[in-house]
Amino acid sequence: MKQVYLDYQSAKPVDPRVIEGMTKYLHEAFGNPSALHQVGDDASDALDESRKSIAKFINADEDEIIFTSGATEAINMGIIGYALRNKKKGNHIVMSEIEHISIHNIAKHLERLGFEISKVPVGQYGKVNMRKLERRITDQTILISVGMASNEIGTLQPISEIGKLAAEKGIAFHTDAVAAEGLAPIDVRKDNINLMALSSNDLYGPRGVGVMYMQKKYRVNPIIIGGGQERGLRSGSEDIPGIVGMKLAVDIMNKEMKSEVKRFQGYRDRMIKQVLDEVPDSYLNGHPTDRLASNAHFRFDGIEGESILLSFKDLNISVSTGSACTSKTLEPSHTLIATGLLHEEAHGSLQLTTGRFNTEDDIDRVLEVVPDVVTRLRDLSPIYKKK
Ligand code: PMP
Repeated sequence: MKQVYLDYQSAKPVDPRVIEGMTKYLHEAFGNPSALHQVGDDASDALDESRKSIAKFINADEDEIIFTSGATEAINMGIIGYALRNKKKGNHIVMSEIEHISIHNIAKHLERLGFEISKVPVGQYGKVNMRKLERRITDQTILISVGMASNEIGTLQPISEIGKLAAEKGIAFHTDAVAAEGLAPIDVRKDNINLMALSSNDLYGPRGVGVMYMQKKYRVNPIIIGGGQERGLRSGSEDIPGIVGMKLAVDIMNKEMKSEVKRFQGYRDRMIKQVLDEVPDSYLNGHPTDRLASNAHFRFDGIEGESILLSFKDLNISVSTGSACTSKTLEPSHTLIATGLLHEEAHGSLQLTTGRFNTEDDIDRVLEVVPDVVTRLRDLSPIYKKK
């Protein structure tokens, strides 16, 4: 039976066109861009071209792009690097309750270093409450960090409003754009974004490559110290094949994002309508409309997300219960709890995320089996009571 993959939020295959374009940089133009010979120059040119394309994709300038080994590293540099650089100005950082786990753990780390962190609550659909955000700001606040969209429930955040507020207050604004990139246009100028993390894989490029965007007048302390590459901000020989891969992924995205997003919206809306219509006591998590085009996230009374996931695994369908980055803990999702769900409600979730290589047949297949899987698990459930 063909494998149906509906977990694009946790990992994406690299686009074959990207792989084709990258290969040359593994064995022909393999040079170190710091080397002064021709092979080094070729690598250096590829690095410059990549920086240009990626800058254009987010409406930034090329000298605002710092290549990293992925989004986690970009987030570390953006938040920790900015906090350490600016600790004399203030020790307070504001973020949302539903940031990615990497940001919550950075918050704990910064607290140990003497910073104070305020987490702004979200409403039932997972949107940051602007009034509450504004009230958290003090004269010590140096940074606001709110992700562009939730990688779990798909809710889009009011990024323009947050950027505007931060600019008015003279506070730096950092956003983790990983969940939204490739699904919503990014314009750092229009939205007053000063620091931002991107990952290559979320654009169908190779994993282990990312970008920290840093607006010109902003400065961070480096997290990785060494040979001084990337203007001293991220030492270590640049991963040219990976960086070129990210550039090629961006070039494809520039051409195809609009039509692709339309296609995902069709899949998403069909999945949401059909599951809610056909499965009793089922609910949509996240915002009904203001959500990523690729994200359908449900909860079902009386069953465990893990047992749903394993039932789908037996049927050769790859789905998720939430963030792959937190799947090793038995704790319910902090995002779902922040939206007001009880622990038992937060455990019965199913996250279906679509991507470039899905077809209508994949959606048919999953929709065909969801009602039966839920009914069977409920028949075995000691806690499910039909309403
Ligand atoms: N932010 C979000 C929203 C994510 O989903 C992830 C994981 N894909 C990360 C950050 C961390 O990215 P990486 O694992 O590429 O470092």
